[in-house]
Amino acid sequence: MSNKKKHITVGIAAGTSVSLIKQISLKELNLLELLCSGFGGCLGGILPDLIDPPTSPNHRAFGHSPMILIFLVVVTLYIVHQLEKDWSNRVKATDHFHGIGYDCWEETVDSPYLKKAITGFFTGLCSGHTSHLALDSKTPAGINW
Ligand SMILES: [Zn+2]
Repeated sequence: MSNKKKHITVGIAAGTSVSLIKQISLKELNLLELLCSGFGGCLGGILPDLIDPPTSPNHRAFGHSPMILIFLVVVTLYIVHQLEKDWSNRVKATDHFHGIGYDCWEETVDSPYLKKAITGFFTGLCSGHTSHLALDSKTPAGINW
């Protein structure tokens, strides 16, 4: 059975690797997104055991279900899509109004840095969760795919 330290280490490695591959394929490198993907990978790496605490070898239930992973991927794709859509709409609106009605909160929420942080976090979360299921599937108890 993989321990918590191994799940965290592999989760961080999975999250940052997937983010790095994505960023290289898009020919961009954003360290904030990379850091947030590492944090998301760390959390995703331990998330199944947070939902199903490892009190016995047969503790794997809903938290270790691929349904959680599918749910996370769908939520991630939805959030990234919404961020892309909102950002392109904001850029068009800013071009139209030339900064009239400047709102500091809106500027922060619409920040490209926040978008990168959220995208990185959710990419890492999915990757870390996947790494947890992969590690647990190699144990005698396995995973109920
Ligand atoms: Zn587990």
